[in-house]
Amino acid sequence: MNFDFDLFVIGGGSGGVRAARLASGEAGAKVALAEEDRMGGTCVIRGCVPKKLMVFASGYPGQIEDARAFGWRQARAGRFDWDHFHERLVAELDRLEGLYRQTLKKAGVTVFDQRARLADPHTVELADGRRFTARHILIATGGRPFKPAMPGAEHALTSNDVFHLERLPETMLIVGGGYIACEFACIMNGLGVKVTQIYRGAQILRGFDGEARGHVAELIRTRGVDLHVGTDILEIHENGGNFRVKTTGAGSGEYDQVLFATGRLPNSDDLGLENVGIETGRRGEIPVDEYGQTAVPSIFAVGDVTDRINLTPVAIREAAAFVETVFHGRPTKADHEMVASAVFTQPELGTVGMGEEEARERGAIEVYSNSFRAMHTGFAGREERALMKLIVCAESRRVLGCHIVCDQAGEMIQLAAVALKMGATKEDFDRTMAVHPTMAEELVTMKTPVRTA
Ligand code: NDP
Repeated sequence: MNFDFDLFVIGGGSGGVRAARLASGEAGAKVALAEEDRMGGTCVIRGCVPKKLMVFASGYPGQIEDARAFGWRQARAGRFDWDHFHERLVAELDRLEGLYRQTLKKAGVTVFDQRARLADPHTVELADGRRFTARHILIATGGRPFKPAMPGAEHALTSNDVFHLERLPETMLIVGGGYIACEFACIMNGLGVKVTQIYRGAQILRGFDGEARGHVAELIRTRGVDLHVGTDILEIHENGGNFRVKTTGAGSGEYDQVLFATGRLPNSDDLGLENVGIETGRRGEIPVDEYGQTAVPSIFAVGDVTDRINLTPVAIREAAAFVETVFHGRPTKADHEMVASAVFTQPELGTVGMGEEEARERGAIEVYSNSFRAMHTGFAGREERALMKLIVCAESRRVLGCHIVCDQAGEMIQLAAVALKMGATKEDFDRTMAVHPTMAEELVTMKTPVRTA
């Protein structure tokens, strides 16, 4: 059977663009890609990239304060100019979107700037009614923020909106305790917004190492975020431009803005899945096997729409594995073990492998942990402590987990992740010479376990 395309990709985010580029540019396939919004998806347009730029912007007041202790006596942060930053942010996102489009063009991918749905296992229908057949179809539609249902939920922002506020609010309530809630609590706090954060559970950052979670929570509070755990939001009322919020405990009051950072859902609605017989999971995720193949052999899915590990680099690896499998005839699974990540709070949390609680469940462990005042922090007169922690398997001596809380922890954990991925033992860490004076040297100088379990 002749098809219009070898591959039709639905979704122009990190996963979709990578798959299209590799299949077309490297494997020589005839590829089309449909994207209804901007090219680049969540990461580039409304996620990692603009978020990280805001992280940078929000870090300067703290650095300027430290600078005074280091002799820059006249240094003053002054007021943050949101309009200036926003104008530059928009220009940067435009530039990056342009690069994504250029990459696709160079690779010979046919781009349709509109929504696409599945009509049958080999046919895609565009919003304008045109239909194209394809030997393979890849769904890479990502995810979207989820707002819990409650009176007044429509007044709350999501992470999609935060990058395009007309002006910075003076006060903000942030609901949630995950990556996005904690990152924006720190960003907004750093930019001078008075931030209240509420989280329904006992401690923020569920799923991370317990000690690291506690450490981050304490430092977030020290830096000025009014964080309340064990507290949920009940309703929001508009009140002359402000929002009156009722919660189950602390945090009730008036805010200029309310941000829901209460998780994300896979973008699988209205994709025509019913036309091909794909049934989604409980959260709307598209079930796939280890190769990204759905229940329909010609249709694959990668990235957040499959709701496995919802991180950009994971989607990119899944896309590359899909192209290897389907277009190079080399069955390849994306490796989901030991995936490192960073929460860009201030300070950051970098993590790879198991937390202490999870590791303890699986067998005997040794815990090496040290919290200390870093050189620059001490000199600046701040009490803030860094945390370095290793979880070691008592039997194999392998380092099962590494958790770092300090400035630049995201950069550090990337390198520690290589060692853990290679199966490094505690003795490998011990025989590695320290780089002095750094914070990370602590990872290779912790001699005695603080506890065994
Ligand atoms: P998370 O799943 O990390 O956190 C969601 C938070 O919202 C949790 O604290 C959760 O509480 C809470 N929550 C969920 N439902 C409700 C509800 N009905 N009422 C009140 N609270 C609720 O999601 P995020 O939105 O923060 O991020 C989504 C994903 O995006 C992350 O998991 C991560 O994979 C990715 N991401 C990665 C980043 C990075 O690498 N730096 C940055 C941002 C996002 P509970 O814990 O009790 O369930």
